[in-house]
Amino acid sequence: MDLRDNDKKLKNILKENFNLDIATVHQLVGYANLNYKVTDTIGNKYICKELPATRFNKELIAAESTILRQLAESQPGFYQKSLRARNNEFLCEDSYINGPVIFRVLSWLDGIFFKETNHTPDLLKSFGQSLARMDLELKKTASIVIRARQIEWDLQYFLNLQGKLNHISDPSLRKMVYYFFIQFKEFVFPELPHLRKSIIHNDANDWNVLVQDGKVSGMIDFGDMVYAPLIQELAVALTYSMFRKDDPLKWAAYIIAGYHEILPLEEKELELLYYLIAARLSMSVILSSEGIQNNPENEYLLISQKPAWDLLNKWIAISPDMAEKKFKEAAGISVPEKSDIQKDLEKRHHFVSKVLSVSYDKPVKMKRAAFQYMFDADGNTFLDAYNNIPHVGHQHPKVVEAGQRQMALLNTNTRYLYDQLAAYAEKLLAKFPTPLNKVFFVNSGSAASDLAIRMAQTYTSKQNIVVMEHGYHGHTRLGVDISHYKFSSMGGAGQKDYILKAPIPDTYRGEFREKNAGARYADQLNDLLKPAEGQIAAFIAEPIVGCGGQVPLAPGYLKEVYPMIQKQGGVCISDEVQTGFGRIGTHFWGFEAQEVIPDIVVLGKPMGNGHPIGAVVTTDEIANSFDNGMEFFSSFGGNPVSCEIGMAVLDVIEEEQLQQNALETGNYFSKLLCDLQNQYPVIGDIRGSGLFLGVEFIKDPDTLEPNTELAQFLKNKLRENFILVSTDGPYDSVIKMKPPMCFNKFNSDEVVGMVEKLLKTC
Ligand code: PMP
Repeated sequence: MDLRDNDKKLKNILKENFNLDIATVHQLVGYANLNYKVTDTIGNKYICKELPATRFNKELIAAESTILRQLAESQPGFYQKSLRARNNEFLCEDSYINGPVIFRVLSWLDGIFFKETNHTPDLLKSFGQSLARMDLELKKTASIVIRARQIEWDLQYFLNLQGKLNHISDPSLRKMVYYFFIQFKEFVFPELPHLRKSIIHNDANDWNVLVQDGKVSGMIDFGDMVYAPLIQELAVALTYSMFRKDDPLKWAAYIIAGYHEILPLEEKELELLYYLIAARLSMSVILSSEGIQNNPENEYLLISQKPAWDLLNKWIAISPDMAEKKFKEAAGISVPEKSDIQKDLEKRHHFVSKVLSVSYDKPVKMKRAAFQYMFDADGNTFLDAYNNIPHVGHQHPKVVEAGQRQMALLNTNTRYLYDQLAAYAEKLLAKFPTPLNKVFFVNSGSAASDLAIRMAQTYTSKQNIVVMEHGYHGHTRLGVDISHYKFSSMGGAGQKDYILKAPIPDTYRGEFREKNAGARYADQLNDLLKPAEGQIAAFIAEPIVGCGGQVPLAPGYLKEVYPMIQKQGGVCISDEVQTGFGRIGTHFWGFEAQEVIPDIVVLGKPMGNGHPIGAVVTTDEIANSFDNGMEFFSSFGGNPVSCEIGMAVLDVIEEEQLQQNALETGNYFSKLLCDLQNQYPVIGDIRGSGLFLGVEFIKDPDTLEPNTELAQFLKNKLRENFILVSTDGPYDSVIKMKPPMCFNKFNSDEVVGMVEKLLKTC
């Protein structure tokens, strides 16, 4: 049977059942069902829909048609009418091509799709007004069929979709959706019972809204109606209206203003909108990803995902507080005053010592964060180019959920057996070269370096420790003893007798400046250590000296120094608190870049993504010597919650290929900075590796006189422009950048672009 025969058959069905004399039949592209545009002999147009002949569909069409009739009475011409068939129902049943189906006929509405028209503030406002008028009318309707209906595309059941998260195959994209699941669970789910509910259209997307003369002129497709929190209506409408907009909140405000004028919104509803929009975007990408998996050939699904992903990427960088503020302002609801930083500082200093410093001339009060973005108490978004503790990204959902889940299950200490301790130890140790096969868990980098030194002294029965100039390893008494950065600075008690200081092998500012000066610095150290030969317990250093201003140890340095220390009976400790876990891009650990294997490794900061975990990793031999009768016990070290979190961090580093990202983004970032250096001789040096970078500012390229003022100026100006960096180094003249490892090229452009803009003003 060819197409014309089908058309003829359809015409007959429509004549017989709806008494329509159809002249032309034109099939339309539809999401799920078959739709036809049909025209009768006098030019009237209709939409004819063909659906499977199920009892559910019949009941649904009856309910929907009744509601449409009611709506059409309230605003004639704005809604389609459902035509009655001869059987007095709004449908007929027939055996069409492949068996029994049902047909329904709806009147035709003229207009251009909202998606295909030019968006203006007036149009968006009229959209809000129309939506509110429709919702006011829908509120009056009652349908047990719609009320009892439960469909996937209903935001109140968003959490049910979490099991489908893995349909999103790219982990770097999946994490955003996962993040919004957690946000929904925290902020929306508990409020659901308190929200006013109504029957809603539930799919006011840009293909379901018609426009004429710059105003919304009709709403179509009531096939997704549900009984749900009213605010979901607006959430769906806003989502699609914000597609492809540079400033989505601005456009959302027009719709909200229009809606609120007709149907006043409640404060609570406006407070949840941000999360509901995120949920609708997430729902859209999950369900279309599922569609793609089931039907990989469908390119349309892939293309149609793009605007949703683009908006999700923008949404993640918008503070929920800023969105709430803008939404409330649009509805004329007063918003809280700006936070009073001075008052906060006073309160803090009333209870907490000023010895704890606060960054920036204008301190920042933080409220929340997401991946590489931090949000202050006023809803501003800061690009975080500085914090390395949230290694895999602030509030990474996998880490958050690992902690929450285990905290609800069991948290105890290492005096009991539980699976997580050995599982995490195994997973972590797999990242180390063979001789490093024992781990001791503690709660901070300081505790780890303290323990590492104690272990070295026990193992070697020697006391002296060689430390790196400008190095920092911790705040405990022992930690300060081994941190030149502390003991030799203001308030420091000076170098203790058992401490020996190694000159920093810095090829930029140090004594030997040739590229491969490592061996020369090692020789220099060898000479210095001669008098203490045989009495050195340990040498401790970071592969890139963070507090020294991100100074990489000169190439080849550790390769010479380690054997030298070991030969006289000491051990070598690598502090990987800053440089570990893939940050330097080229290697997972900083010591690997120097082609050495330490005897002891100190871990901290990034290990728990902000959860306090530290560790000492060492050899069997050293671990055994430490087992000398005195128990080692850390109340929190290695508890099951910490272990679960630590495992989640390792998983994320792997699945999101963050080491690779650190390498690629870091190289790109450095290249941009080097290009800038060519224009601005005040940039003396760009150094570091991967996403562990330092930019040193100088006054004079010949003398390398440090330009502390400029570094401070830039740090504070960047902060005013919502970019977080810090300064360090012996002259505080080095800008340090060590962002969360999901930092991307676009973020690098933002930072370097702003630095350039600021340098132009100097
Ligand atoms: N080692 C290094 C290299 C560090 O940078 C730090 C912290 N800045 C520590 C040790 C101490 O870690 P924590 O602050 O967790 O005690």
